[in-house]
Amino acid sequence: MTIACPDCGTLEELPQLTRSEVARCPICEAQLERANDRSVTAALACSVATFGLLFPANLLPLMRVDVLGIVRETYIWSSVARLGANQWVILALFTMLFAMVLPLLRFGLLSLVLGSARLGLRPSWMGRAFRWATRLDMWAMPDVFLVGCFVGYSRISASMPVTIEAGGYCFIAAAILCMITRAVMERRIVWRAIAPERDAPEDEQAISCTVCAYVMPADAEGTDCPRCGQRLRARKPDAKRRTLALVIAGYLLYIPANVYPMSSDIRLGQTTEHRIIDGIAELFHAGLWPLGILIFFTSIAVPLLKLAGMSWFLASVRRRSSRHLVARTRLYRLITEVGRWSNVDVFTVAVFVPLLQFGVINQTRVNIGSTAFLLVVVLTMIASRGFDPRLMWDEGLPDRD
Ligand SMILES: [Zn+2]
Ligand SMILES: [Zn+2]
Repeated sequence: MTIACPDCGTLEELPQLTRSEVARCPICEAQLERANDRSVTAALACSVATFGLLFPANLLPLMRVDVLGIVRETYIWSSVARLGANQWVILALFTMLFAMVLPLLRFGLLSLVLGSARLGLRPSWMGRAFRWATRLDMWAMPDVFLVGCFVGYSRISASMPVTIEAGGYCFIAAAILCMITRAVMERRIVWRAIAPERDAPEDEQAISCTVCAYVMPADAEGTDCPRCGQRLRARKPDAKRRTLALVIAGYLLYIPANVYPMSSDIRLGQTTEHRIIDGIAELFHAGLWPLGILIFFTSIAVPLLKLAGMSWFLASVRRRSSRHLVARTRLYRLITEVGRWSNVDVFTVAVFVPLLQFGVINQTRVNIGSTAFLLVVVLTMIASRGFDPRLMWDEGLPDRD
């Protein structure tokens, strides 16, 4: 049973794991597999439950606010529709994708794949379906959306009576189950149920799939992975140039994202603008400092860490540096993993601005800063996905097998 480490490209023989053992890459320390006997059944249960809960979460009201007899209820779709109607098309589109469409797609596909694996079936679409479910993992964000709602809720519940409605409770349950699914599922076991790992081709260069780590002889380049259908390439095509372009765009948008307000309040004719930093200051001021720290990390530290980290990786590939290879690879994994959490602030704005419309008493508006910030997050997520960490190893340790 051989797989290729997704982060450094080394071919590894996977050992037979016993209870709670973890197999790590000896070169870059990537976690290759974690033993888990009940992984498929537990993940299937969580995935089906998440999928089922997403329907009422999308269709029933999330929250309601009652100010002097004026009642506002919010649904996910009503927030999206209001953003769209106010010309915030990009914000509306991504909120709809991240919070409504992609979670349904991911958990629908995942339930089908895990159900087939549990029943011992191997339909021909299973590999492709699991590839899509795996890809959508970072883009389906009920968990991030939930934290965004929680921050917004804490912010306004001090001054207004907000109640969580049925859809809100379903959404909370779905988001928690989404996190549990991620924690219990071991991908390697599912991939093996789709098609077992093969041995590395002897006396021949090997090429590996970036999605499922399946190993093939090098002359298979350009064909589709027999297990998951991903096009096989020795390295991700054009990774350096594409990442560089996206990182530059990210830096440029980072400026308006921090200079312009995310939203503004008009209370009795007086306008107050909220930049990211103002939002954090307000949270501290209101005594909600744990949330202030959270938003500082997700909205300021993580985007900067991503941009600086990706710049470092690109520069080190260019200089063929062999220093800090393991640290760089670790940082790459961290960046890819936490990048999606930067959307917390965007979701706070997307959900609460449409909720807070009370004529002259209180009106809240979205501002251009939130679109710029959303684009920074999305571009850096695409940049870290499109970058190939194996390039750092190719250039840093060119003599390795
Ligand atoms: Zn490795
Ligand atoms: Zn594959």
